[in-house]
Amino acid sequence: MRVDVLTVFPEMLEMVFGYGVVGRARERGLIALKAWDLRDFAEGSYRQVDDTPYGGGGGMVMKPEPITRAIEAVSAECSPRRIFLSPQGRPFDQKKAEELAAGGSPLLLICGRYEGVDERVREGFVDEEISVGDYVLTGGELPALIVIDAVSRLLPGVLGNEDSAANDSFTTGLLDCPHYTRPPEFRGMRVPEALMSGNHDEIRRWRRRAALDRTRERRGDLLDRAELSEEDRRLMGRSPES
Ligand code: SAM
Repeated sequence: MRVDVLTVFPEMLEMVFGYGVVGRARERGLIALKAWDLRDFAEGSYRQVDDTPYGGGGGMVMKPEPITRAIEAVSAECSPRRIFLSPQGRPFDQKKAEELAAGGSPLLLICGRYEGVDERVREGFVDEEISVGDYVLTGGELPALIVIDAVSRLLPGVLGNEDSAANDSFTTGLLDCPHYTRPPEFRGMRVPEALMSGNHDEIRRWRRRAALDRTRERRGDLLDRAELSEEDRRLMGRSPES
């Protein structure tokens, strides 16, 4: 899958692209990531990408010409889905990450800075807007990295153990169950016996019950929407420690 990012800080993205699961996926050719410097599409010796706002007020606005030139350059190479990162966009969630990963089509992530981007870019050159939450950041680079991280771990072959994404929070409609590793007892806290029993069905039931209980405690809204089986309803009547 190909993902291009338009930004005034390409080094910020390139630095993060090299690490962990995303870095390994890139090395193995499972994802192609490129950060484009918007200043390379600006004119004049100052390569200016921003200007003062019409109507006055504080802050600068990103000029339309460099961004649209950059969008056109990437679009000529791969016809990507053009996504503008914006606090005014649709909230990003696991479903959206799954949708972007499943399509496998190239993505172009456009990062704003300053007061934002000239509205005409949004009107004429963007397919959709994505927000990473109801708060305002200084730029779209961290949101772009969030989208890239969440999408790349869902691409086939990226995670070593495919099952590790299958039971993640939100994927099944529930929160994930708690996880433990050695030692069996740590500062007086024991690993639940069921997990050490070696009985696969008991372990499966423990995990499902713990995920249901955790979702009920922390995110009742998810539980209300989840499709529950008869077994789920029975399991929810009992504590995961029993
Ligand atoms: N004046 C804009 C507003 O209130 O809607 C905020 C501009 S913000 C300071 C600069 C850039 O950061 C935005 O153009 C966007 O690309 C990015 N950004 C900030 N918060 C974001 C969020 N929650 N989700 C996605 N992008 C965000």
